[in-house]
Amino acid sequence: MRHHHSFSTILAAGLAMAFLAGAQYACQADAPGQADAEEPMDAEQAQETEGGEVHWSYEGDTGPDRWGGLDPSFAVCDTGVQQSPIDLAGGIPAGGGGLEIQWQPTDGEVVDNGHTIQVNMAEGNTITLEGRQFSMLQFHFHLPSEHTVEGGVYPMEVHFVHQAEEGDLAVVGVFMDAGGAHAAIQAIWDAIPGVDEAPAPLAGIDPNAFLPGGRAYFRYAGSLTTPPCSEVVSWVVMTESIAVSQAQVDAFAALYPMNARPVQPLHRRFILLK
Ligand SMILES: [Zn+2]
Repeated sequence: MRHHHSFSTILAAGLAMAFLAGAQYACQADAPGQADAEEPMDAEQAQETEGGEVHWSYEGDTGPDRWGGLDPSFAVCDTGVQQSPIDLAGGIPAGGGGLEIQWQPTDGEVVDNGHTIQVNMAEGNTITLEGRQFSMLQFHFHLPSEHTVEGGVYPMEVHFVHQAEEGDLAVVGVFMDAGGAHAAIQAIWDAIPGVDEAPAPLAGIDPNAFLPGGRAYFRYAGSLTTPPCSEVVSWVVMTESIAVSQAQVDAFAALYPMNARPVQPLHRRFILLK
């Protein structure tokens, strides 16, 4: 697929900036382009390719409360003061605006990366957040939701990962609640390759299908929710959820029964409600 080269270019640019800036987000599981269809590889090989060969998981000796000690590059998972996810409570009403979503149907590829199901997207989807433009790299799923709202957990959460030219990220999160079947999700589920298989091309994925009707959102400064937990993420979490069927939740749970990091302390941050 032609757009693999653009994924690689984006990743290379991100890696270069990460080294220059001393940032540590380059080997995140959420990173784009970690799977290249031209050379099918399994999850471990994919991680080695992106420099993150350290095994981490969501339970036990390699679970979230151990991430910070698994590798020096993961230290901020423990020592950070603006970690994600968080409980979204006490949002400060700040009026609307500040977010423009410019998404359109785009070709992509579905990957099982060993931590989640991820859809790598070709170029063409951007958001403008507080005057800065970010380009979508990929989106992926968590079960249950990582963010909570006043303590309430949703069945799932989808994260749309965007990157600015400067290398920092903006992630748009959307809660997924129990309801009717979601056609766009079903198309992705139907395309999921095996963990040892090549990414599965999927044409005409419309990310707009995953947006709720309302455009209100929570806004705060945070981090990757996976190692190395780099604090480079401008978070946008939509206040309204979208519906997925229990069967669709169950299908994801059969692959990943729990891939959500627990909520982290707010520390001195504040949450805007826009
Ligand atoms: Zn995520």
